[in-house]
Amino acid sequence: MMKFNDLDILDEIKKAVSEMGFKNTTPIQKEAIPLGLKGRDITAQAQTGSGKTLAYSIPILQKIFIADKSPQAIILCPTRELCIQVAGEIEKLAKYIKKFKVLAVYGGQPIGKQTRVLKKGVHVVVGTPGRVIDHIQRGNLELIGIESVVLDEADEMLDMGFREDIETILKNTPRQRQTLLFSATIPQEIKKIAKNYQKNPKFIKIKSNKKTTPKITQYSFRTNPKYKFKDLCRLLEAYDVTSALIFCNTKKGVDFVFKNLKKNDYSSDALHGDMTQKLRDKVMNRFRNGNVNYLVATDVAARGLDISNLDVIVNYDVPQNFDDYVHRIGRTARAGNAGFAFTLVTSRDSFLFENIKRKSNVKIIEKDLPTDKEMNALKNQIILDKVKNSIKNDNLDDYLKIIKKNSSKEFTVDEMAAGLLKMMREN
Ligand code: ADP
Ligand code: MG
Repeated sequence: MMKFNDLDILDEIKKAVSEMGFKNTTPIQKEAIPLGLKGRDITAQAQTGSGKTLAYSIPILQKIFIADKSPQAIILCPTRELCIQVAGEIEKLAKYIKKFKVLAVYGGQPIGKQTRVLKKGVHVVVGTPGRVIDHIQRGNLELIGIESVVLDEADEMLDMGFREDIETILKNTPRQRQTLLFSATIPQEIKKIAKNYQKNPKFIKIKSNKKTTPKITQYSFRTNPKYKFKDLCRLLEAYDVTSALIFCNTKKGVDFVFKNLKKNDYSSDALHGDMTQKLRDKVMNRFRNGNVNYLVATDVAARGLDISNLDVIVNYDVPQNFDDYVHRIGRTARAGNAGFAFTLVTSRDSFLFENIKRKSNVKIIEKDLPTDKEMNALKNQIILDKVKNSIKNDNLDDYLKIIKKNSSKEFTVDEMAAGLLKMMREN
């Protein structure tokens, strides 16, 4: 176990980390931060949710020279959402470093706005490879002062066809730079990049042992296309799901589920690649702030997102392959919290799902969806549990007085409780 306070880093960073609520480093942070601080090149493999962002951000931040207002580090991420998220994390880390500036650059946002901020001077740029190249070519982004380049979710970026862009950026940044490569998997292509663009890199691999494997309870439910949407609602009700990310395989699927959730008065939103950046940001914020309960999304739209308090992932559609399944359910149970992953399986998806089950080293338990009768009992139970909780934790004196005053032979306390339960159920 290693504490952030034991690291040889700025007090300003220590203070910010502690305010973020972290005391001990995660395994990847413990390995990577000291090496990164020494200036070593690193190729690191660790699963999603293991704390990679801080693992590379702390060494980078530590060596930023504030008085120099030109970019000193570039962090490349596969999606705009991830860029925003990483830039946000760095902003929090740098809260006590005066005059520090970080900027996220990505497609879909007018380039002029980003250009203006870049021209004013930023220390760290977080961007998608395409947009970073765009800024370099327009002369908005000076590379001469770049000391570090990070490839975050390198495997994802390669899958998305960013290989050439990444190499262009690496070729045009100073050779003495530090190059940090973080990824959930290290395929051959990444090894090649490491070999060609890193200097004597240190390879770190954090095995996903029991301690770092998130505690995700995984259930599957048989359904059929005709009742699938109804079964989704049943699932949300039965498990009293107050917040969930719901995955569909296609944009059309996302639209369908989202529209029907809305129609049934569920608080929900949709996220997919065809939406404008502005709208996507708005949707993400609403979901993050808890103003919306259910976010329906495609895989691409949700890659790498770290949303805290996400208790439940629902696979409305069975994902196309095991990797997608892992990526999806990795959105819950972040940093050691518990989480649930539910998958709806029609007979048509059986083959696909069996394949996923076979590859999973954690058991995916097949469950039955509750019947109408069971649903009824469950809903009562959920309300009664909340009541019991309130009796335990709240001060009910004032309410007790009212109940006592209103109970009589004609209206017993039992009857009043039953009447209140009925009201709650019909609400
Ligand atoms: P990864 O990039 O490996 O998927 P993230 O960097 O997004 O993981 O971190 C996942 C979650 O864990 C985030 O909510 C982050 O704030 C939290 N986290 C990071 N470091 C720590 C730590 N040392 N202790 C507890 N939580 C942490
Ligand atoms: Mg990450």
